Amino acid sequence: MTFEALGLHTSILKALTESGYTQPTAVQAQSIPAALEGRDLMVSSQTGSGKTAAFMLPALHNFASAELSINAKTPNQQAQSDRSRGERPRFKAAQPKMLVLTPTRELALQVTTATDKYGAFMRRVKAVSILGGMPYPKQMQLLAKNPEILVATPGRLIDHMDSGKIDFSQLQFLVLDEADRMLDMGFIEDIEKIVAATPESRQTMLFSATLDGVVGNMAKRITKNPLVIQV
Ligand code: AMP
Repeated sequence: MTFEALGLHTSILKALTESGYTQPTAVQAQSIPAALEGRDLMVSSQTGSGKTAAFMLPALHNFASAELSINAKTPNQQAQSDRSRGERPRFKAAQPKMLVLTPTRELALQVTTATDKYGAFMRRVKAVSILGGMPYPKQMQLLAKNPEILVATPGRLIDHMDSGKIDFSQLQFLVLDEADRMLDMGFIEDIEKIVAATPESRQTMLFSATLDGVVGNMAKRITKNPLVIQV
């Protein structure tokens, strides 16, 4: 099995070669084809299995194929053109295409770094981390760039949602990374609230060490006809 055989966009294949990846890991070989077809996924996999690329590469492929937002204005540019027309600048909420929820800041930063690596040869795909403990003004600046991908811990994300900074109407991909740990940390209500704010039409991919019990029940509630993968 090769990454070429999975049909990924050439800009992604180039990034994988530069990263020294020669072949997909087991979780990638099983997840990527189904995700590219638009299937929801419930994946039982461990840290270190290559799960980040398993959910990120299909989304990046989709964005590369759509040549996403090459001509789209960022909210700041929009505000400037409003001003130049003599209008009062309008505040525009960020409209991400993808949201990755993680239990910890550290994991969020790892996912963001991996995304930058996998998307290095794409024209414009920006991933930002929205984390507890990070200063709000800095995060507002990041959101004002209207990033395609948000990687967030649940609590801080809710703060920004409540203050109208994020509009999920354009969201295509929702990922719950290490979902069992998020539940262990007491994020269930936050997760339910976030999921409820996203479109029904989204593609949902849930990764967890276990799919038993509470996490399995939540996974079934938020996915549609998911492919269940146990690695
Ligand atoms: P993850 O489970 O996503 O945190 O990935 C664990 C580590 O494996 C990271 O350092 C990745 O860069 C690396 N990795 C992921 N996929 C591959 C692959 N197909 N070939 C080689 N290394 C990989």
